[in-house]
Amino acid sequence: MASKLELKDLIRPDNFIDGKWVAAASGKRFGVTNPATGEVIADVADSGEADARAATDAAARAFPAWRDALPKDRAAVLHRWHDLMLENADALGRLISLEQGKPFAEGRGEVLYGASYVKWFADEATRIYGDIIPQQQRGKRMTAVKEPVGIVAAITPWNFPFAMIARKIAPALAAGCTVVGKPAEDTPLTALALVLLAHEAGVPPGVLNLIAASRENAVSAVASWLHDSRVRKITFTGSTPVGKYLARESAETLKKLSLELGGNAPFIVFDDADLDAAVTGLLVSKFRNGGQTCVCPNRVYVQSGVYEKFGDMLAKRVAALKVAPGTDPDAQIGPMINARAIDKIARHVDDAVAQGARVLAGGKRLTALGPNYYAPTVLADATPAMQLSCEETFGPVVPLFRFDDEAEALRAANDTPFGLASYFYSQDIRRIDRVSRGLEAGIVGINEGALASEAAPFGGVKESGYGREGSKYGLDDYLSIKYLCQGGLE
Ligand code: ADP
Repeated sequence: MASKLELKDLIRPDNFIDGKWVAAASGKRFGVTNPATGEVIADVADSGEADARAATDAAARAFPAWRDALPKDRAAVLHRWHDLMLENADALGRLISLEQGKPFAEGRGEVLYGASYVKWFADEATRIYGDIIPQQQRGKRMTAVKEPVGIVAAITPWNFPFAMIARKIAPALAAGCTVVGKPAEDTPLTALALVLLAHEAGVPPGVLNLIAASRENAVSAVASWLHDSRVRKITFTGSTPVGKYLARESAETLKKLSLELGGNAPFIVFDDADLDAAVTGLLVSKFRNGGQTCVCPNRVYVQSGVYEKFGDMLAKRVAALKVAPGTDPDAQIGPMINARAIDKIARHVDDAVAQGARVLAGGKRLTALGPNYYAPTVLADATPAMQLSCEETFGPVVPLFRFDDEAEALRAANDTPFGLASYFYSQDIRRIDRVSRGLEAGIVGINEGALASEAAPFGGVKESGYGREGSKYGLDDYLSIKYLCQGGLE
């Protein structure tokens, strides 16, 4: 196979189990649609329990050899996989745009972002150190070594169909684990394309297995992994209710869990902020992927002294954003993922307006473009009683809340069960220290809206989950520590 592929070569509508493309055991298929038009792109394998079990069987057979492979050999495979991602970044970016809706430039950017984790963990694979414990008794040597946890089940969402699964598979394979995975029903094709490249890069049969399923059948497919004692870890990115369900169901076989769940990120603008920088930072963090990321600011708190000015500056910039299909080279915001998403956005805006919010920009569906478009929106006079203050809108809507002092802003920002990302803008060095310590979140952006990096630990606190992806800590989630105590050495 040539390594540089066209978009059509990347569309693989079957499951990948034990190094082979196979249809679902039931023969069932489901349609994956283009959110810009509603047209079906491909009919994909609709897997159930039997397919999930076949994937686990393959992963179990492949585990001993992959675990025992030299770290530098596992690293070499991951480096080849990374290189293939970069060679095919254009076609992959187009595929992401086609099934997820984001502008092509963002789709291509996601490929580079996801690939950066693969490179990072390829390097980390060769740096899994243990410890020699200082001697406690004569004739006894105590050491701690790290071992792969075993089979990992990865379940991922639709908003970053490439990066979310890449940053789970890469550390798992680097650690020496084998993987069974199920991407979101809206966007399985990108994940299947990723697996195609992994196969070409030399990932051995059974080491990486991926099945697709409609939401209806996903439940029984994933349940097979939750109850199978051979699966030792679940790594999940998605909503908090589903994360809690996975934790409950997998408790029976007590699996290691990494849960990257919902957020309700606050973004605080203090009177002493550089307002131009704050507006730019908010645009970068809020409108990435049309507002459909778990680190997008959901509640923007602006201090009273700059409230009106900030609202005006922001509304001007937001009104100028170009909404268009992801294939339009000028598009900055594409369609939302599906009807459910667009209905939630409209419900939040309508509820806010009914409760007194002022529309400074947008505030409506853009039906002329298609069924799934919503105008980028700025709402002033938001209050805690509005739905958008306690639920994640997951769309291009900025509600502006007014506050008077720092303590009030911190109280409001932390008044949520979630704790993933948070942001604030201030030029006062003492305030920066106080607020960074006070925010209950796994990630804090200080005068910065773009936080993502493979070198940084990504993850939440409270009901946003646990575990960290990326960074030097990212491998720990896929390793367990074994203590070796050797006696009789005198
Ligand atoms: P979102 O609201 O972003 O779609 P979800 O948490 O519903 O987030 O979905 C994230 C992933 O979890 C998807 O792959 C989806 O198919 C899967 N999923 C959703 N519900 C279940 C369930 N009950 N059992 C197993 N997997 C599920």
